[in-house]
Amino acid sequence: MDERAAVRESCTKQREGLLDISHRIHAHPELGFEEERASAWLCEALADAGFAVEKGICGVPTAFRARKGSGPLHVAFCAEYDCLPGIGHACGHNMIAAMSLGAAVAAARVADAVGLTVDVLGTPAEEVGNDSGKIRLLEGGAFRGVHCAMMVHPAPFDFVVPKLIAASMFDVEYRGKEAHASAFPELGVNAADALTVAQTAVGLMRQHILQTDRIHGIVTKGGDAPNVVPAHTCCRYIIRSETMPQLEQLRGKVLRCFEAGSVATGARMTVLGGDKPYADVRHDAALAALYQRNAVSAGRVFPDLGAQADRFAASTDMGNVSQVVPSIHPLIGIDSLPAVNHQPEFTAHCVTPVADRAVYDGALAMAWTAVDIASDAAVRDRLMKAAAARA
Ligand SMILES: [Zn+2]
Ligand SMILES: [Zn+2]
Repeated sequence: MDERAAVRESCTKQREGLLDISHRIHAHPELGFEEERASAWLCEALADAGFAVEKGICGVPTAFRARKGSGPLHVAFCAEYDCLPGIGHACGHNMIAAMSLGAAVAAARVADAVGLTVDVLGTPAEEVGNDSGKIRLLEGGAFRGVHCAMMVHPAPFDFVVPKLIAASMFDVEYRGKEAHASAFPELGVNAADALTVAQTAVGLMRQHILQTDRIHGIVTKGGDAPNVVPAHTCCRYIIRSETMPQLEQLRGKVLRCFEAGSVATGARMTVLGGDKPYADVRHDAALAALYQRNAVSAGRVFPDLGAQADRFAASTDMGNVSQVVPSIHPLIGIDSLPAVNHQPEFTAHCVTPVADRAVYDGALAMAWTAVDIASDAAVRDRLMKAAAARA
């Protein structure tokens, strides 16, 4: 049996197990850095498949590394498994975990034949927006020696090179002074007004930002009682831009809007977080093309997205990985429209028969891509030379 057939056979054999783990993670959603059950289930499945498993790597309790094979070309499949607050697996990370598990087990089956070392890196807390799992794993050296990294993300449609832009998440806190809101309002310093001024300034500024910039946020504390002048308010914002230098420029402008709230009211402002932003994803074009070819072989269809392709922009900490290690981050469709990521309706779509089919297809396409990379001398040599230059 040739390697491609062996990989397909492995995926077929794993199918029920992969869907079981995808559904189990979906049924037990865990927030970022709290994914104890998901990481334990994945580690258990990988250990059963003969992988050497290290839990809690880089000081992150719910991160892990599982390794099999000892070939010269070192491939890492990233597994995400965190959910969103309140709406469960509305980003389908249950499927990401199952696809990376399946791809790794299938690729490991032919690792000796094609010369692969296969890692699964369990990368928690993708949704947290700052100082996330992959950033901590990068800083901790988990990607050292890795020649290429990949994962596949659920979406309404298949899309091989989605625009994934830089993003920074931070909190802003205002501290004012309480007072009776009616009897002694002149003695209060209104921290809620500071936030309102900031939101107004951000709204007006939208005229003067790049078409590709994004600014969105929530109020996390707005006050305690209407008859007490709010002395403490907080909000959480995400700003996004196509590149890290553009993001830095946007950050300066947005922070001036928040300062305006402080200046206008006299409330003290503190900015928390935002220090470890997500970088934009640099898709490796050759690897992406291999993935697309393999996905089509697996039966996937890549629709012509037209203007939608330009409008779409999301962010991921896979961006930080891709700035260091050649990477791919294609989207795989689950036919969910009009439901889209981060809606409860999308949560429901992440365990349908269409989603299950995507789990199988994504695992197969990634495993085939790993085999191609190891077997194609030109691609393999380029990746290994690039890694040697980084070392
Ligand atoms: Zn998401
Ligand atoms: Zn996601």
